[in-house]
Parts: sequence; structure tokens; C-alpha cells
Amino acid sequence: MSKAVFIHGPHDVRVGPYQPPPPRNDTVMLKVAAVGLCGSDLHYYKDGGIGAAVIAKPFVPGHEFAGHLVNDEPALGLPRGALVAVDPNRACGQCEYCLAGHANLCPKVEFIGAPPFDGAMTETIAVPSELVVPIPQGFTPLQAVMLEPLGVAIHAIDLAKPRLGESVALIGCGPIGLLILEVLKVAGAGDVFAIDPIETRRDFALKLGAKRAGSSVKDIVQWSNGAGYPLVIEATNSPDGFNDAVLAAKIGGRVVLVGIPDGNSYTLDAAQARRRGLKIKFSRRMGHVYPRAIDLVAQGKVDVVSMVTNEFALDDAPEAFRLHAEGAPGVIKSLIVP
Ligand SMILES: [Zn+2]
Ligand SMILES: [Zn+2]
Repeated sequence: MSKAVFIHGPHDVRVGPYQPPPPRNDTVMLKVAAVGLCGSDLHYYKDGGIGAAVIAKPFVPGHEFAGHLVNDEPALGLPRGALVAVDPNRACGQCEYCLAGHANLCPKVEFIGAPPFDGAMTETIAVPSELVVPIPQGFTPLQAVMLEPLGVAIHAIDLAKPRLGESVALIGCGPIGLLILEVLKVAGAGDVFAIDPIETRRDFALKLGAKRAGSSVKDIVQWSNGAGYPLVIEATNSPDGFNDAVLAAKIGGRVVLVGIPDGNSYTLDAAQARRRGLKIKFSRRMGHVYPRAIDLVAQGKVDVVSMVTNEFALDDAPEAFRLHAEGAPGVIKSLIVP
């Protein structure tokens, strides 16, 4: 019997004994090295679910993770002890969406760490071998964990298609927003104007290359002399995120929504959105982006390390959830280290 972190319901996280699902012949065993605490995990904690994905019974969160192979895996060409990352998205591979290259939108997906599928906030986990992502020598568990949120940022930029030198408004400077900021710079975007209500996150955005960082959408609109921005990317957990993105957008602009709003609803001033004639895209999880995420980290083109501000033992996970839900200042990204 091992132990795991369970979300029982809203604001109820406990660590307890766990009988993991038994290995199958298509799975490999990992000793979990580290797990990221994601904004989506926080929604399960704060709201008890995300839309229709509700917690029916205590479930183990954690979809951003890396681990060491428990056995030699000749089929993967990897020895026992090798550090690997995991793509948590097990799509069916058969439906029209998978066949069209949109495995992130597969309605039959089994996503590790989204109810009812238990995640990685535990000591050992069996994962389908097709989801194992080999990583270069020298990667740390932290870097391997961050490939998943970096992948989310890369997917958002794939949808946003920033033009060379184009200025961008970034709504939200949590871990995903900060990674988006870094990928925007790599992709050749111009000045990035960011907002976040938390000062330490604004400071972080400036450190990672934002031109300016403000606390409200009024700030960034003013910096564009009232005209707004041709491209706006939203990565908040706020019901106002969509509306702020609209208010920051130029007439005819493009808006990409990456965040998941608390309470599963947006507040939106319809006229503001309609009159701008905006092109709006919703970004969900990611496509086939791990190879590029690995290259960006291996080549040092993005910094995924410095935004990890906190590490917690498995037993202290309830404290980690509490701190993040409170929006504790200075806490940007946390890892659980079993
Ligand atoms: Zn995540
Ligand atoms: Zn499918």
C-alpha cells in the first residue's frame, strides 16, 4: 500500500493510503519524482470540479509529472532508473477529431489526473507506455515536469500565430501566462504588455521580458493610447478574464483564451466584443508539442526553473493547495515531491 493525495471535495484535500490501479501489459511503472500543482487542480479543489468533470469520489490529482522507471523497458529503449516525462493525454486515436490531428479535443480521452482517472500525486504510478516521453540526459525532474505546462503555452502560441514584431496583450501572469510570455518572445512577437492583480507576478513578467506590467486592463489599454492590441492572450482563472481580453483587443483583433474561469462561467460585455468584430479561439490542453517543448528547454530558450517557487512533500500537499487557493503572494508554481 502506498500513499497519495486525495481531493475529497471543495476545500478538502487529504493524504491517505492508496491502492494504485494494477499495472497492465501496456503500462510501465514509474516512481514519481515530482508533480506540478496546476491551476486546473485548484479548480477541483475550489469548485469540486470543472464543468461536467466533477469529483464523484475522492480522486488523486496530478497531470504534470515526471518519474524514474521502476524496471528496464527495452521496448522504449530505456533502462531502469531513467527519468522520463509523461504526456497525460491518452486520446482514443480513432475518432474523427483524433484522426484530424486534434487529440487534445478527443471526447473519449482518458486524461491522467482528471476525474475519474487518478493522477500522479502518489509514490508510484503505472502509465501507458505510449504516453512516456523520453527526455535528454541532464534534465532535472523539475524541468521534466514543466514540459507539460510549457506544452500548454506552445499550443496557445500555435493557435495565436503571433506576427513578427506584433505587440501583444497578456492577461494573467501565473505559470501558464509566464510561459506564454516566454514562448511569445521565442516566436518573434514584439512588445508584450501584461496584467496581473498580484505584484510578485507582475515583477516576474517584467523579469521574463514583458515591456510593461499593470494591475488592471485599464493600464494596458492606456499604454496603447486607447486603441488596444492586435493580439490578446488570456491565461487567468477569473470569470472576468474573457471580458478583460476583449477590452484589451483592438478592433478586428484576435483573442486566444487559455484560462479556466472559476465557477465555469464568464462575465462578458457582449457589445464590447461584438463591436470589435473579434476573432476568438479557445485553447484546450495541447497538440503534439513535447518535442518542441524539450528543445526549448534543452537549448535554454525558455526558463522553466525560476518560476517554481515552492516544493512540498506529499504529506504537505494540503498546505500547497491552501496557499495557492488563497493566492499567497510570492507563490507562483509549486511542485509536490513524493
Ligand atoms: Zn496543467
Ligand atoms: Zn479520439
